[in-house]
Amino acid sequence: MATDKGGEQMGEQYTGIGATYDSMTGLMDRMTFFGDVNEYRKRRVQCHIVLVQLSRLMQVNRKYGIAVGDQLIRDISMWLAELDEAYQVYRIANSRLMLLGPACSRQQAEACVNRIHSRFGENWQVACEGQEHTILAKTYLIHLFLDPEDTENDLLDKMNFGITVLEKKGRDGMVFFDEEIKRDMEHQKYVLEEVRYAIDHKTFRMYYQPIYDCKEERFVSAESLIRLWDRQGTFISPGEFIPMAEEHGLIDQISWIVLEKVCRFLGEHPELALQTVSVNLTGQQVSDVTLIDRIEALLADCQLSGSRLRIEITERTVADDFEEVKKTMLRLQEKGIRFYLDDFGTGYSNLSSMFSLPFEVIKFDQSLVKMIDVSRNGRRTISLLAQLMHENDYRIVAEGIETAQQAQTVRETGVDRIQGFYYAKPLPEEELLQLL
Ligand code: C2E
Ligand code: MG
Ligand code: MG
Repeated sequence: MATDKGGEQMGEQYTGIGATYDSMTGLMDRMTFFGDVNEYRKRRVQCHIVLVQLSRLMQVNRKYGIAVGDQLIRDISMWLAELDEAYQVYRIANSRLMLLGPACSRQQAEACVNRIHSRFGENWQVACEGQEHTILAKTYLIHLFLDPEDTENDLLDKMNFGITVLEKKGRDGMVFFDEEIKRDMEHQKYVLEEVRYAIDHKTFRMYYQPIYDCKEERFVSAESLIRLWDRQGTFISPGEFIPMAEEHGLIDQISWIVLEKVCRFLGEHPELALQTVSVNLTGQQVSDVTLIDRIEALLADCQLSGSRLRIEITERTVADDFEEVKKTMLRLQEKGIRFYLDDFGTGYSNLSSMFSLPFEVIKFDQSLVKMIDVSRNGRRTISLLAQLMHENDYRIVAEGIETAQQAQTVRETGVDRIQGFYYAKPLPEEELLQLL
């Protein structure tokens, strides 16, 4: 396997002396990769990198067995090693292979990545223990030109950012780390810095959007929604920073700030003419066993009954820890806290698992409710869904109602409550108190 050029310099190419190897594939390993990158950097020699991340290795291992998965990695490694002798090939983690090549034009880089991409459009014939398997392997391909200022961590951050970009698109493919993606990454860095600052200084603010009850003809509850302005006073939407906070392990700290602010507000305003206020949490948080004691302590501290608190979770975040989530939900229910299923209609809506969790309310997402604008079929679908939910003892909140016409039609479908700009926008505490 032409994997090591023995430390000699070939034109602008460099490979470190004393390379170490990955025992499974015979490729050079992670330590050698970063050593070689460092060498390019020190010498200020341009180079470029292609990450080949096998994205469905777990599924291959599950379906064919680990031995076949390992053989697939070997076959792919061999193919990459023979692709072009201008490149060094490394295996830096289980499913991560790297190509390191000398300076080249964007077109040359694209040609290399495209060759890899099209190979992965075809099957691999993997021979293992006397059997042959036909496997379609999936990859994320990230290409970048090394920035001499980048540290090892910067490089890994860029790779990981490229992978999240592809993951968000929900498919395999390739990303060229160009100016546009660099700007996106810089923007994410800025947002995360502002979020961390807001966590440390508790500068988040809470807004409350009243929810209208169709029978009682008044506001009966509200959803708490977090608000963030950066240090220059520019608004950053939760739709943007909450998913980033989830990805970077910050959501737990944010949720505790939110829970504390909301419980304090409710505790300070026992006269507030709202039965309940809901807080958005993720399924992972609800699966955390310490949640129960912490919420109990917070309620006691704020002299608040759990029956005024509701927790909204989305189906997306429940799937991973289903059993744990269910246990915690049941225990919190004993304290009077009830649960809303948020954003119903946006995911894959697994009705059987939904019906086995103790939700009080199902919130129909705006995208679902928008169907009423489109056709009579849409209206009928919402009516039937509402009927199904009522037969299973759920109440329904329709989200995102913006016009009188939508409010009228959605009421005719039988939903119980409505949340939307038509009735009220999310309001700061003082304005909520005035409105009520
Ligand atoms: P969500 O929980 O589904 O919240 C409802 C979103 O719909 C809010 O957006 C609200 O302002 C918006 N909305 C309400 N009525 C209308 C309407 O008539 N038209 C339109 N176009 N939008 C309407 P917001 O505040 O930007 O929050 C977006 C998402 O961010 C929330 O969706 C929730 O997933 C997340 N989020 C917000 N606050 C928190 C929080 O405190 N904790 C957590 N974990 N997530 C939060
Ligand atoms: Mg919500
Ligand atoms: Mg929602």
